[in-house]
Amino acid sequence: MASTTPHRIGILGGTFDPIHLGHLAIAEAARDRLDLDRVILIPAGRPWLKSGQQVTSADHRLAMVKLAVEDRPELEVSSIEIERPGPTYTVDTLAEMRDEKGNEAELYFILGMDSIRELRRWHEPERLFDMCTVVAVSRPDSVDISTAEIECEFPVAHDRIKTIRGPMLDISATDIRQRITDSRSISDSVPPPVEQYIHEHSLYVAAPNRREAADHADTTLRLPDRHE
Ligand code: ATP
Repeated sequence: MASTTPHRIGILGGTFDPIHLGHLAIAEAARDRLDLDRVILIPAGRPWLKSGQQVTSADHRLAMVKLAVEDRPELEVSSIEIERPGPTYTVDTLAEMRDEKGNEAELYFILGMDSIRELRRWHEPERLFDMCTVVAVSRPDSVDISTAEIECEFPVAHDRIKTIRGPMLDISATDIRQRITDSRSISDSVPPPVEQYIHEHSLYVAAPNRREAADHADTTLRLPDRHE
């Protein structure tokens, strides 16, 4: 009997502070281009590379990701990184996903070109290529990196790296947070339910360097010095 378990699974990790249309567009581009059965969005619990930065609480970030995918059946959300104690390492997430999905699953880890340029700073980056195929998607303001360049830096990446010329949406969470602080519209950058959630919970209203002092101590995390 044919199995209904999806075999080709995309994984898009991120801080998602907040999730935006750029994230959804790269998830969908990867799904279409690589014929993935589904893409799982995984908000980071303790993103140790965003060192010294303030990050909105995991509960809010997870809630926004759930709202963003609610009318997109090809996208799913997982809270495994939020539930796991300690710093968030992608290799641990992939190991958990492998256990959950079984040996037959083909795992594709999706990330933007800016992130792949930082791979050397990640925790055990070589192991990533043992555990999945890495998919780097173009991003405005980030110069594309070729598979040959990546293989040169990580010989283990051979046959385990793909690049996609993505939808090139010039959207970043940093810009969205700044726009809210400046009382400018974010309607063109996030799905409507996410925009509504942000306003209902008064997220990002204070400038980053004032947020700590504001009455938001319960909605933000102070992160340790490293994140991924
Ligand atoms: P910030 O501005 O706070 O750094 P971000 O917009 O880059 O946030 P993240 O949650 O850090 O969002 O990104 C998660 C993943 O999605 C990363 O691999 C990042 O490179 C990728 N990504 C985010 N926005 C885009 C975009 N507009 N185009 C392509 N890739 C993107």
